[in-house]
Amino acid sequence: MVQLASLRHSRRAAFVVLGLALVLATAGIAVAASTSRTFTPQKADQITNLDNLRQQIKNYYGTPGASSGSGATAGWTLPLNLDSNYAREAESVASQAEQWLKARAHKSAKPAIVFDVDDTTLTTWNYELFSNWDYNPGTNAVFVGLTGTTFTGNLFPATPGMLDLAEAAHKLGYAIFWITGRGDSQHQATIANLVSDTAAGLADITSVTYSGATLPEIDAGYPMPTAIDVGHGGFTDGLFTKPSVGFYPAYLNKAEFCASAIAANASCATIPYKSGTRAYIESQGYDIVADFGDQYSDLIGGYTDRTFKMPNPNYYLP
Ligand SMILES: [Mg+2]
Repeated sequence: MVQLASLRHSRRAAFVVLGLALVLATAGIAVAASTSRTFTPQKADQITNLDNLRQQIKNYYGTPGASSGSGATAGWTLPLNLDSNYAREAESVASQAEQWLKARAHKSAKPAIVFDVDDTTLTTWNYELFSNWDYNPGTNAVFVGLTGTTFTGNLFPATPGMLDLAEAAHKLGYAIFWITGRGDSQHQATIANLVSDTAAGLADITSVTYSGATLPEIDAGYPMPTAIDVGHGGFTDGLFTKPSVGFYPAYLNKAEFCASAIAANASCATIPYKSGTRAYIESQGYDIVADFGDQYSDLIGGYTDRTFKMPNPNYYLP
């Protein structure tokens, strides 16, 4: 988590220039996630005022009056607005993807799809409000479902449109895998949120009391991921959480993926970690027909027929 935390902390420095990266991406110019996005505005009016930007994002998520912060009645306690522009945009991506998966069904022996977790299949908008866009691994872990190492219930709802998409893919015969930057220590809590507490082998929790509020506990109800040996942590359930440094599986120990990080006893960056994991899945006979993520680093690096970018105006992860 330390590595992930530092990654997510550094994302704040890139926040202002995200718009520039998106312009480049839209223009078809490759945006290498490892390059710096820092630029220095000449004048203040080249920058969206931060308070105005926060308000725009609240409007986009359909919670214009939501207050940020950890108060017992603050915006983080509101349910995700399913009638928001965010919900419509996410549903639109899901609907395009469903057409693609229908068209490509049964064209390979073992078709598969790969999902990211945060802001791709579970939406963390409530945590952005709670933290006032200031990621903290300790408080974030509570939303993930853990107080220390104890499972205390999940707080992230399904991303609009994605539950129906996953169910449609499942019915069409696709294997379903998740690859996330969340660490192995959050593996069971993540299964509990994506599928259900009992599917994760945990006692069923129905409400979560945190920071003075009591909220419904969330089991999103996705299909179980397709069983596969992830190669670390003893997990065989098709959710690839990120191994701790020192525990990377052999399939990532290749020059084009994580070999240099492994040799340096350091955390492997997202693009080689995720693309190397997709390569491993395909080495097991699967054809990854679609890869879904809210970050470009979820999508770059190949080993998928097509990528689908989920909306996320809140943060940038290289
Ligand atoms: Mg994500």
